[in-house]
Amino acid sequence: MANAPVQRMSQLMAKTLRDDPADAEVISHKLLVRAGYVRRTAAGIWTWLPLGKKVLGNVERIVREEMEAIGGQEVLLPALLPREPYDATGRWDEYGPELFRLQDRKGGDYLLGPTHEEIFTLMVKDQATSYKDLPVILYQIQSKYRDEARPRAGVLRGREFLMKDSYSFDLDDEGLARSYALHRKAYQRIFERLGLDYRICAATAGAMGGSKSEEFLAPADAGEDTFADCPNCDFAANTEAVSYELKPVDASGVPAAEDIPTPDTPTIETLAAQLGVPASATLKNLLVKVDGEIVAVGVPGDREVDMDKVEAHFAPATVEMVTEADFAARPDLVRGYVGPQGLDKVTYIADPRVAPGTAWITGANKADTHAKNVVAGRDFEVDAHVDVVVVQEGDPCPKCGTGLKLDRAIEIGHIFQLGRKYADALKLDVLGQNGKPVRVTMGSYGIGVSRAVAALAEQTADDKGLCWPQEVAPADVHVVAAGKALQTELALDVSEKLSAAGLRVLVDDRAGVSPGVKFTDSELIGVPRILVAGRRAGEGVLELKDRRTGEREELTVDEAIARLTA
Ligand code: ATP
Ligand code: MG
Repeated sequence: MANAPVQRMSQLMAKTLRDDPADAEVISHKLLVRAGYVRRTAAGIWTWLPLGKKVLGNVERIVREEMEAIGGQEVLLPALLPREPYDATGRWDEYGPELFRLQDRKGGDYLLGPTHEEIFTLMVKDQATSYKDLPVILYQIQSKYRDEARPRAGVLRGREFLMKDSYSFDLDDEGLARSYALHRKAYQRIFERLGLDYRICAATAGAMGGSKSEEFLAPADAGEDTFADCPNCDFAANTEAVSYELKPVDASGVPAAEDIPTPDTPTIETLAAQLGVPASATLKNLLVKVDGEIVAVGVPGDREVDMDKVEAHFAPATVEMVTEADFAARPDLVRGYVGPQGLDKVTYIADPRVAPGTAWITGANKADTHAKNVVAGRDFEVDAHVDVVVVQEGDPCPKCGTGLKLDRAIEIGHIFQLGRKYADALKLDVLGQNGKPVRVTMGSYGIGVSRAVAALAEQTADDKGLCWPQEVAPADVHVVAAGKALQTELALDVSEKLSAAGLRVLVDDRAGVSPGVKFTDSELIGVPRILVAGRRAGEGVLELKDRRTGEREELTVDEAIARLTA
């Protein structure tokens, strides 16, 4: 490979800024803008300046190398896509307001791809005819479009962002498991090479559909995901995906259910206080409407319902809260005193804590009255047990029972076993060995390439600025000419030599900029090693500084080259 030419800051299209952008909340947003890596073009839409593009390109290269290593073949599909395939899978409607929909001059409907399952499925349908054509892994690195509700946090959550998305196509479940395992390994290698601290967490499939799925989460305060981490075993899961086994208990000793007068107990707290029981002994029932039908959601009185989980359970149906009008239309639903034992024609879902045999104090479906000894499976039926409570720090680990820790994290990758959802919708078959058609099974796998840059910035920055790991840094060494002509001459000379030795060199050769400003900028920009031509330039002596540790040493030109190329 040809050596990269020395990059001169005197010519670089990037200005460093002293102040944080006014709307910036997270470190990566502040620093990537201040250090001249990115500029905001519109809400959630970003321009990558030369230094940023280099980092982005390095992330892409690592992703590409590891995808090729598992046999992935790179393609590039369009971002502007026709409506029909998304109609066939239902996602034109299901995707909701996040989907950028548009029309061409003839009134035809199009979308900007938020993810490409449909189009990859159709491509394979067009190209693969026989079992001999499979398995195959295809990937692309391309812009994705999602009209995010809150495009904040800079490039962490863009409305246009760069994603590596790949798709596996296999003949059977074992094949899918193999392709999934290959991706999992490749992702581990990618994130290790990027220098990201990450955890693999059990996840929910969400809008993608399918069964098994895991997320790669990078712990960071700026993250919008919360994951539960067991301090004792290897359990780690997005709190969205923490789920408990149903543990039925023996209720043979529980007396018959009985109504008890409970005046002035509008809340769980007042009820628990009046009866002298913990809130966890009570069962609260939240009413919602799912596509217009009333559904009750039961959870222990000391727990909160996580509406995102309720919505995810019923997706793509829409979930709304009940209104005054709904109560007016259903006199049997007594506000504040709803109990599952008296519910007629209402679907009842409950947290697994409401297991068969558990006994509860709950509403008696009469004003100012509750009922006690109301037993699940005896006095009422649960239509479906669903994990719907907000997970709390200290909740038991589903695997070993130890209290869970909760941490914030950034989702940097997500892998799914889709199964046949898309192949069924778009009728993707190949001819099997026995001459009969076989329905193909799929996986889909994403990495937020632009988001990974921001996640790395979040995890590695210090109070002086960015601080990149070597492989993704925009240069291997940042040479600073701290002085006048003599220093500049030495800086340029050593830069050329380092470049000839194969290093990527950024040199601060700006005239009329003080050494102090150059030092501050070099720390802000975050190249891992900084080589200063300063006070002792006349003797051919330079100072090499480690950006992270701040350690310095004085070296001759030859020593510096030897050290940096070692
Ligand atoms: P999130 O929960 O953060 O919205 P998602 O679950 O919708 O993400 P996927 O559909 O799994 O995301 O997309 C694959 C990857 O693309 C994610 O793991 C993430 O790294 C990245 N990604 C998703 N949305 C964005 C975005 N708006 N900006 C930047 N990267 C994104
Ligand atoms: Mg995801």
